[in-house]
Amino acid sequence: MTVTSRNADLVGGRPVVPSRGVLRPLGLGEVRVTGGFWAVRQRVNGGATLAHARSWMDKLGWTGNFTSADGSTGPHDRRGREFADSEVYKLVEAMAWEVGRSPGRGLDDEIAELTATIAAEQSPDGYVNTAFGGPGQPSRYSDLATGHELYCTGHLLQAAVARTRTGGAGPLLDVARKAADHVCDTFGPDGVPGICGHPEIELALVELARVTGEQRYLDQAALFVERRGHRTLPPHHFGWSYYSDDIPVRSATVLRGHSVRSLYLACGAVDVAVETGDDELLTAVATQFDSTLARRTYLTGGMGSRHADEAFGEDFVLPADRAYSETCAGIAAIMLAWRLLLATGDGRYGDIVERILYNVVATAISDDGKSFFYANTLHQRTRTTAVPDDEAQLGFGGGPRAPWFEVSCCLPNIARLLAGLSTYFVTADDDGLRVHQYADTEVDTRLVDGRQVGLRVSTHYPDDGVVTVQVTRTDGGPWSITLRVPEWATGAVLVTATGRTRVPTGDVVVLRDFAVGEEIRLELPMRPRFTRPDSRIDAIRGCVAVERGPIVYCAEESGGNPAHLDALRVRTSADPVDEVGGVAVRARFDVPDDARWPYGVARPSPGAAPVAPLRLIPYHRWARNGPATMRVWLPST
Ligand SMILES: [Zn+2]
Repeated sequence: MTVTSRNADLVGGRPVVPSRGVLRPLGLGEVRVTGGFWAVRQRVNGGATLAHARSWMDKLGWTGNFTSADGSTGPHDRRGREFADSEVYKLVEAMAWEVGRSPGRGLDDEIAELTATIAAEQSPDGYVNTAFGGPGQPSRYSDLATGHELYCTGHLLQAAVARTRTGGAGPLLDVARKAADHVCDTFGPDGVPGICGHPEIELALVELARVTGEQRYLDQAALFVERRGHRTLPPHHFGWSYYSDDIPVRSATVLRGHSVRSLYLACGAVDVAVETGDDELLTAVATQFDSTLARRTYLTGGMGSRHADEAFGEDFVLPADRAYSETCAGIAAIMLAWRLLLATGDGRYGDIVERILYNVVATAISDDGKSFFYANTLHQRTRTTAVPDDEAQLGFGGGPRAPWFEVSCCLPNIARLLAGLSTYFVTADDDGLRVHQYADTEVDTRLVDGRQVGLRVSTHYPDDGVVTVQVTRTDGGPWSITLRVPEWATGAVLVTATGRTRVPTGDVVVLRDFAVGEEIRLELPMRPRFTRPDSRIDAIRGCVAVERGPIVYCAEESGGNPAHLDALRVRTSADPVDEVGGVAVRARFDVPDDARWPYGVARPSPGAAPVAPLRLIPYHRWARNGPATMRVWLPST
């Protein structure tokens, strides 16, 4: 795998700015989502989720853990888990991207206020963490395995990068540089040979290096990546794989252990590989991700099937009713796919970004943006319970959407992703523009050769498969528009000035001397379809799922469906059909016999119940009308 070198400017509202790669990301000022599915969610995110997260962090004392800017509050009983600082940083990062997306909403003042209190907490030598090093607290870096200190610093750095790219250099960047310098001084080649139990600092140091041009930050990130996998962290009761310290990064063949840790590390490794020209490392991580997609990923794009350690299971261990699929793991997988897409230009990574967006991210967040799933099961056997608006859920893991969890990593993660989401939709390559995700979008940018170009994408996607791309600006001469034809879109049609053409899945390129106002249209087939699993996924063998476009569907016990979804059998002899608000299939609803021993020799099938419609809704809509049972995978006759 090779990538080409390219200079990139270091501002402009882009989450990831590699100095080389096949694709150049566009900034929040160059690509805007103006309407549709994601615009609604971005508005809710900016209008409600950010304030919701801030109020919970204030109420629980997580923001109050930092010394106040005027010094009026000093050390006190610290609140929250050891990584609570990171949630404050992620919120600041989300606010910074939101400033870039929608300037003038008063968030600048809030960022300045939080920056002042973080700066007040920072020691003169650059160290900043509210859980370690204070009076009565464990000493600094005394628990690298579980203390999350470098993890927290990583999120501080990412917040500063976001702030710099949307608001310019300022005091938060100063705090981040001092913190990063302290990390380099402490853990550099001549320092403590340690790593953090939770990767994150690696990708953050690379991005800070991109913003500042500081080589030592990149060197330190590379050092952290190379140090991992040599079992230098203490033995963990879930094994060294829990924190990816079992096998060196460039030797591993698949992602394993704690899903979020593994994916964040992979992101950092790609960043290091791209910046250092280490194509061996880049290929190693791409191979690991491909294997993970092939053997360890749910239909939704979710990752992680073990609740106890929030980890990937072995190959094909993907039980629907024990799906963990942490929201953060989905977001981390988008981050990894995005980095690999930029580096390689391989459009398949756009497919998995889309799958996760519609089926993990959109599922996790409530319509009002004020509650969320931490885990995203694919089969809810017993009804979820209603959660009071003012009650944080203990711990983490499964259960209904809740306003807050004791471990609330996922909500600020959703917030930062949604605020900057438009930048994931369109990129530039050496020849023109590439549209990866379909929404009402306005694009205005320059090509590599300096020509100004613009696009307007209009669509009702994913309700409808017609995507119209109109050229709104061109300086003349040929350039290309590349559209992603998703892997499910067999039979897609491209309509241009020269006529209609069936196009294969993958990337379709239109290279022309475009005129302003010229349109091209992509027609994606949106018939609902049955999807069958690989037979090696034993837990769902004999089942089918229904998908329509990028959307995974599910059966819920409402809308005329019976409550006992576990005994249904779907008929696949007739295709699923569209109906208002969903899709319908035909199924038998057997009545389970709960009194009997559930095993037997050639146990006869239950009595022949009549065939009736089974109504399915988009998986991301489940449990939005109160407690519900639900299933994605449907036993078939
Ligand atoms: Zn999370």
